[in-house]
Amino acid sequence: MKVKIDRELLLGILENAKTLHPKETILLLRGKVKKGEIMIKELVIPPLATYGHGFTTFPLAMLPMDFSIIGTLHSHPSGSLNPSTADLNHFFGKILMIVAWPYEPHMVAAYNRKGEKLDVEITS
Ligand SMILES: [Zn+2]
Repeated sequence: MKVKIDRELLLGILENAKTLHPKETILLLRGKVKKGEIMIKELVIPPLATYGHGFTTFPLAMLPMDFSIIGTLHSHPSGSLNPSTADLNHFFGKILMIVAWPYEPHMVAAYNRKGEKLDVEITS
């Protein structure tokens, strides 16, 4: 499975992560899944997002029942692109994306529910 994200959208995410650093940002990803490809179309700021308190305290029960939400994205101010155990235990949707410090375009990773790394293609 491959994840496609538009360059402009990715740059916006990285900018958001940079602004909140050293706190974490958390965003929901809206998009389409077809033929083994996930196309990320837009971002949604989650309701009651409490930035900086860590992904584990994120109120998953508050998420909208919206099937166009295909996953979540959060930042790792530590610079690690690997998902934590808590990240995988709080998986929501089909993919988990991580952007990590210093928030350059190559500092992005995507994982499936099993924690397997997926290819990320940046489109323009
Ligand atoms: Zn994490």
